[in-house]
Amino acid sequence: MSHESFSRRHFLVSTGILTVATCFRPRSFLAESENIVLTARKRAETAAITVQNLRGNVNALLGSGGNIGVLCGKDGKLIIDSGYSTSRGKITGALAGLSPEPIKHLVNTHWHFDHTDGNEWMHSDGAIILAHENTKKHLSTTTRVEAWDFTFPPAPAGSIPAEVIDKEKTLSINNTKVVLACYGPSHTDGDLSAYFVEPDVLHCGDTWWNGHYPFIDYSTGGNIKGMIKAAEWNLAKASEKTIVIPGHGKIGGKSELTEYRNMLVTIHDKVAALKKEGKTLQETIAAKVTAAYDSKWATSFVTGDVFTKLVYAGA
Ligand SMILES: [Zn+2]
Repeated sequence: MSHESFSRRHFLVSTGILTVATCFRPRSFLAESENIVLTARKRAETAAITVQNLRGNVNALLGSGGNIGVLCGKDGKLIIDSGYSTSRGKITGALAGLSPEPIKHLVNTHWHFDHTDGNEWMHSDGAIILAHENTKKHLSTTTRVEAWDFTFPPAPAGSIPAEVIDKEKTLSINNTKVVLACYGPSHTDGDLSAYFVEPDVLHCGDTWWNGHYPFIDYSTGGNIKGMIKAAEWNLAKASEKTIVIPGHGKIGGKSELTEYRNMLVTIHDKVAALKKEGKTLQETIAAKVTAAYDSKWATSFVTGDVFTKLVYAGA
């Protein structure tokens, strides 16, 4: 794959995971309606939302961008990530089906639009938004993601987190402690986890993609070494009983987290060895170090070649 084809990737967006089709047309051929944000929002209008009760009053909503965590109870709902704005009707319906209380708190695991696009409507419904300070920074300003060839304008005022976290914060809501802990630079520079202590449920945001190569956003401070560190942290946090919510993919647990960490480490080490030998990016891609992993982990959004490039950049 030529270097140019990377910069001309044309993104399509499916309900859960962004999907990319390699596109060799010059950018000028791409209609406005084909850009990543508009396509994602458009698809989310019709995307089905699946509700999964995890344990106690903790639930997950799957189907609109990143996986959404929901803690129900008399203090009002606490939501982790807000999905796409166009899913509002379906998400509202799914939430009403869980319990009658309104949304009181919304936590963003990071700034990416498939996790924050619904911030504005959730805020207008009464949610206080909490996030890492860098998530607030990226939502407040014009932010470009080079790998997506897309520049995001500042988000509407109602979308901006009111409360920022730089290390850790524990909330006590609905008789449940919720520990929000920052990872440090990993998928972006503003990732945090949400751990529901009593029900023993961990939401990892996009530091974990269950069964898929992850996207790593170098444009806003992500890197492969940080992704591995975050995977180690998630593993240390999870016991055999912990239910773990990935940013993308199915709900899982420690064994799937372990498999994911091992995949990251193995591919990183192979790519790092080639880079150290002086191999160029193209030579490293040509070496097909991900070949044994592609059938399980590759998606049309992050193929083996794309993942090799993401690893090489930080190896
Ligand atoms: Zn993300």
